Amino acid sequence: MTSPLLELNHVSRTFMVKKQQIKAVDDVSFSLGTGEVLCLVGESGCGKTTTGKIIAGLLSPSSGKIFFKGNDISTLSKDQHNAYRLGVQMIHQDPYASLNPTQTIFEILATPLRYHKLVKTDKECRDRVLSLLELVDLTPPDDFVEKYPHQLSGGQRQRVSIARSLTVNPSFLVADEAVSMVDVSIRISLLRTLSHLKDELGLSVLFITHDLALAKYFAWDGRIGVMYLGRMVELSPAPFLVDHPQHPYTQVLLSAIPEADPDITRKKQSLQLRSMDVPSLLRLPSGCSFHPRCPRFAGQLCQEQIPSLTSFYDGSAVACHLVMDDRKKDVIKA
Ligand code: SF4
Repeated sequence: MTSPLLELNHVSRTFMVKKQQIKAVDDVSFSLGTGEVLCLVGESGCGKTTTGKIIAGLLSPSSGKIFFKGNDISTLSKDQHNAYRLGVQMIHQDPYASLNPTQTIFEILATPLRYHKLVKTDKECRDRVLSLLELVDLTPPDDFVEKYPHQLSGGQRQRVSIARSLTVNPSFLVADEAVSMVDVSIRISLLRTLSHLKDELGLSVLFITHDLALAKYFAWDGRIGVMYLGRMVELSPAPFLVDHPQHPYTQVLLSAIPEADPDITRKKQSLQLRSMDVPSLLRLPSGCSFHPRCPRFAGQLCQEQIPSLTSFYDGSAVACHLVMDDRKKDVIKA
């Protein structure tokens, strides 16, 4: 069996806040194959962006292991580590802050190409910049190449950010809320471009969003992972997760998505949280951290024991005592 492109093994990350240690990411494990999509969803502060930064090499894990192409990244030589950093590129949320306003689009894209010696001549550099702009649907590319970021719309700037991430021929993209700062009307077209790039270049994509409706759209052929207060609470193939959400938190998130069809809306079961307050990472609830809000709260067990993410034969994985209890027979034994 071939090893996955990326594997996270019990990864945690702590930070010191007000002289107290908080776990922004707690015991997260998953793997991703070549060309696969995984969407991480959850409220702000759930650890999805920190997970993305750890994968992109911008933060190191406090514990746990990350394997890229089968190699433990903590044991890589300097050259191998550089290759890993180039192989995993991040698209940031804010296209206004992530592009240098004093450079033209040509300079923004040519700089990494030249720095990493990916082009030999000026002509090759210009041709590559133009083909990158075409790849992200900024056409005709000659209309954009000499412009400055402030002369472009938000959607066009985000396309330049995507083009810049592709300059170094990555195999893995981390897209962190990559479409949330652009108008709703152009989100879908940006997602189509990302999806098309994934297929054409065989890229694996970790797509981070707080919007489960977007995750549903983008990851329909992949998987969705739901995070809550630093932990993965459900990880399943997208259609399965949307049609059969198992964790109460996933059920709450899905019940809050508005549907265009009034018949579907009427049939939708609305789940009420026990509390609207999201607990602070500084004072995490005991046991299952969702228990103060969980509509299916089952008493002492939920309050005292942390449920671990358990995999089932149907490809889903859920961290909930009640689901575990209901589906004992379907558990894949480690
Ligand atoms: Fe709710 Fe208990 Fe399941 Fe946590 S373990 S999600 S509190 S039912």
